Amino acid sequence: MRVVVPVGPKRRMIGVVWDMDLSGDYQYDGELKEILDVLDHAPFLSRNYREFITRVSDYYFHPLGLALEEALPSVVFSSRTRSIEAILKARPRHVRAETPLERYVTKRPHTLTPSQQKVLDAVCEEMEQAVFSPVLLHGVTGSGKTEIYLRAAQKALAAGRNVLVLVPEIALATQLITWFREALGSVVGVWHSRMTGNQKLMTWNAIQDGTVKVVVGVRSAVFAPLENLGLIVVDEEHEGSYKQDSRLRYNARDLAILKAKIHRATVLLGSATPSLVSFRKAHEGVFKLLRLTERVFQVPLPKVEIVDMRSRSGKTSQETPWWMSLILKRSIEETLAQGEQCLLFLNRRGYAPFVFCTECGHVFKCPHCDLALTLHKAFSKGSGQCLVCHTCGFHTEALPLCPGCNGARLESRGLGTEQVLQGVTELFPDAMAERFDSDTLGSKKRYSTVLEGFRKGGIDILVGTQMVTKGFDFPNLGLVGVIWGDQSLHYPSFNASERTFQLLTQVAGRAGRRERRGRVVIQTYQPDHYTLVASSRHDFEMFAFTEMKKRQALHYPPYGWLINLIFTGKNENNVKKCAFSCLKIARTLEEALKRRYTEGVDILGPAPGIRSRVKDTYFWNLLIKGGHRGIVRAVVRGVLQDLKKKDRMGVRIEIDCDPVGIA
Ligand code: ADP
Ligand code: ZN
Repeated sequence: MRVVVPVGPKRRMIGVVWDMDLSGDYQYDGELKEILDVLDHAPFLSRNYREFITRVSDYYFHPLGLALEEALPSVVFSSRTRSIEAILKARPRHVRAETPLERYVTKRPHTLTPSQQKVLDAVCEEMEQAVFSPVLLHGVTGSGKTEIYLRAAQKALAAGRNVLVLVPEIALATQLITWFREALGSVVGVWHSRMTGNQKLMTWNAIQDGTVKVVVGVRSAVFAPLENLGLIVVDEEHEGSYKQDSRLRYNARDLAILKAKIHRATVLLGSATPSLVSFRKAHEGVFKLLRLTERVFQVPLPKVEIVDMRSRSGKTSQETPWWMSLILKRSIEETLAQGEQCLLFLNRRGYAPFVFCTECGHVFKCPHCDLALTLHKAFSKGSGQCLVCHTCGFHTEALPLCPGCNGARLESRGLGTEQVLQGVTELFPDAMAERFDSDTLGSKKRYSTVLEGFRKGGIDILVGTQMVTKGFDFPNLGLVGVIWGDQSLHYPSFNASERTFQLLTQVAGRAGRRERRGRVVIQTYQPDHYTLVASSRHDFEMFAFTEMKKRQALHYPPYGWLINLIFTGKNENNVKKCAFSCLKIARTLEEALKRRYTEGVDILGPAPGIRSRVKDTYFWNLLIKGGHRGIVRAVVRGVLQDLKKKDRMGVRIEIDCDPVGIA
């Protein structure tokens, strides 16, 4: 129950009585203060829920109170409120549903295909046993996974058990939400990140009193207080958006598995490109593996062509700009001639990612982040050319003169979606071309207009960032062109290849979903890289096994454990010193552990983060890596315990367990 307690001479705070020790032999040397008030009439967190939060707090090295604060609707802890009933009474009961970005939804199928039925039967069999059961559903794009989730949910409800469905982003889960609401009615509650604290509390309450039995939501919905769970679905389980990258750095997929364990539920992880962590478990029989290898509409997966861009280097063609091969150009022409549409994918917005002075070498950088500014020719309506920081949003007018030498010979390098659109418009003057990225989509209305335009055929060529790769279903899309297929391979992270494979598979999966087989052209400077070869063959397993061999050799997940210590502060020197103090402690601990166990850890760093300065705050990393989870955790725990206050120097230390996207 929540209580009001005095803190210091004047402050009052809301705290939670988590547990009680009634033995009477509790020793405390300081002065004990009285609880001023008890806010709740009854405990509002179940035993299961408390166990869940305790384990979350423990696993992520995050204080229990802060973990709870992350989990509960914020109003629960705001000091103005008294009882939860009072908060609820003071507010309208109506919760505004999130308006989906896409209104386009296909009809629900009446019958399952035989392979869908087989998968559903297998899932139901797991649920009937009412034990913890993790299942990986590896189903190609368009294989009809949504309908399986829905029917499994119906089954769970019929058995009197509740259901949690996690999706990477609510606005893109239109079809899923519509189908769930149509089929199951008002017991379906939606949980998304734009809900206010009060809206969350109302949904929270509706879940607790049993009016909501199915929650469809984003990663934070894993904290919804559903009891008696029979089924937890994690759609697109590989998605990076399940990982929170501040405060409590949890991965909702992993917490879904933990939750299923506590509730003895079936957890169904679905993906066309499973994470290697999940895939390895399925492969080794820890997870049950189910497969859907065919698309519902029987259209074969698109034909993928890899274009070697190296042969173009140094040459200039009169016919196309440097970033477009003749093969891609011809393919676009053919597709347009057949009355079909094209999608061009480049994961970088703006015109060019880099501007510099050819006289004095000055590079335009963000004053707060130390990163190159991106040139935007059309940043916002009415503005001229701008230089924009893609990390903090800083922007400034792009002046014609260099601030270093006053020269006028400024040049930009590299490629962004604006430049691609401009090139495409010049090459195909009769086609209608549009851009689809977070710059053009400031408003929801414009977002739907572009999507509708593309769906109905008013737009022939769509140029977009990874926003176009996600889940959309464009019936008349004949060609997908990937401008720079190895772009994300170069990201300095252990899972860059995995992310590239996922991205290429997702974007390729948009082509030819209905009548005619689609085409995909991937331009690349690394045509022989196994990631590109595997994606051109739609061969997930080839990719997975090659990549896993590399990871195994280096103790990276799924064969090792990573914990990153992130040091942040405004004073770079202090950040660095604190990181080095931790390194020293970690080395000592490692020595001791090595003597006791045969296995040790690798300590990497400390080193400045990939983004070493963001909004005037410095970031350093110290990465602990090892093949044995317990040992990695012991080192981190020891570092946190042994670090002296004076060596902290006011530097914040955040713990990132199972980080994605670093090292
Ligand atoms: P996935 O999530 O596996 O990529 P979806 O669940 O979005 O695939 O399904 C792809 C398309 O197939 C959807 O438009 C859906 O309406 C359709 N579909 C799914 N199952 C069937 C079925 N049994 N019969 C006919 N159409 C189906
Ligand atoms: Zn910046």
